[in-house]
Amino acid sequence: MSQELHPNGALNQANELSSMHGAELTERYNKSLLGVFGTPSRVLVRGAGCHVWDADGNRYLDLLGGIAVNTLGHANPLLTSVITSQLATLGHVSNFFSTPTQIALAEKLLEISAAPAGSKVFFTNSGTEANEAALKLTRRNVGTEQTPRTKVIALEHSFHGRTLGALSLTYKHKYREPFAPLPDNVSWIPAGDIQALREAVDETVAAVFIEPIQGEAGVRELETEYLRAAREITQAAGALLVFDEVQTGMGRTGQFFASAPVLPDVMTLAKGLGGGFPIGAMIVFGEENTSWLTPGDHGTTFGGNPVACAAGLAVIHTIENEKLLEHVRETGDWLRAALAELDGISAVRGRGLLTAFELQTAVAPKFVSAALDAGFIVNATDEHTIRLAPPLIITREQLETFLAAVPQLLTAAV
Ligand SMILES: *Cc1c(COP(=O)(O)O)cnc(C)c1O
Repeated sequence: MSQELHPNGALNQANELSSMHGAELTERYNKSLLGVFGTPSRVLVRGAGCHVWDADGNRYLDLLGGIAVNTLGHANPLLTSVITSQLATLGHVSNFFSTPTQIALAEKLLEISAAPAGSKVFFTNSGTEANEAALKLTRRNVGTEQTPRTKVIALEHSFHGRTLGALSLTYKHKYREPFAPLPDNVSWIPAGDIQALREAVDETVAAVFIEPIQGEAGVRELETEYLRAAREITQAAGALLVFDEVQTGMGRTGQFFASAPVLPDVMTLAKGLGGGFPIGAMIVFGEENTSWLTPGDHGTTFGGNPVACAAGLAVIHTIENEKLLEHVRETGDWLRAALAELDGISAVRGRGLLTAFELQTAVAPKFVSAALDAGFIVNATDEHTIRLAPPLIITREQLETFLAAVPQLLTAAV
């Protein structure tokens, strides 16, 4: 491993851990890291493009992209140099101050989201924090004394994050139950059912939270017609509409935002925005919505950090400059058509490079470990479903190697 390519080499070399094998490192992990994620499948040491390598020297084609995060793949030269030069110039200031980089990213996000005049951005460090900010904002939509707006509506099978506010919006009982009582009076309605939405949203509802494609639920897409109906229904009832595009945003679906052209009141972003550098954002659409949060109402120390914002600018620049949206649409359509031809697969879903396929038998977790052994990183969202969210730069040739391996992986998984 050359030191020019890996500037942290100096630190790693000083560290005994860099020469250890996977099994030994995993043992050290289990002794030092809190067990919320279980035992890691592998310990990874480096990446380049769409590949990563583990501590034992094995190479993997990364078809998950750090869960829809590594937009530009691993060790992208532009992203690396932009982050490095921002850090060498000015790495952090508090929110008592601003930086040109932060302002530039806010302006760019407003531009690519076709935000109307007067729209504004709030930066966070993660998706859950972006949703926390959105939840706080919508809580200010209090209604009147006679008819207070006390309710929040979310969709069945939704995932909005793990901190208490975002968790209160998340559907999975198993995630919420151990941490009850949670804030907010949230009810869940069936996803995609316009009638259910119409019935649920009245003048007691402060906000409706929707993922345009439910990623964690196994890539379940909502029709544009449903998003349009949500826009009309919330507007008529005076409820705020929040689109959680943490997973679907930043080109993942072949457009910058999966919900476009429907505009919500608030959109949340994270995952792909920094291409691997932690950053999240909340876009508040329309001047009328920007006054829900005023000076002192919310804050963050790291949010809007110039290094993170530089990463966001590099990601957007590359998506535009290398025409990645078009590439994502074409490659995604081709991939789904090819998956649909394979035996043992009963359904294929998704848009752009967010794809799920269902196995005829309930062996998805075994399929994931067979894939790892064969050099492919994929993810199971449930017993039947495999999710793919590769870097947006992935090629057909790379995907073909996976498609060719699927029959063996299915055999190995049974
Ligand atoms: C991942 C995800 C989140 C949570 O983001 P974190 O950065 O893990 O906090 C929220 N909403 C959606 C739709 C997500 O996919």
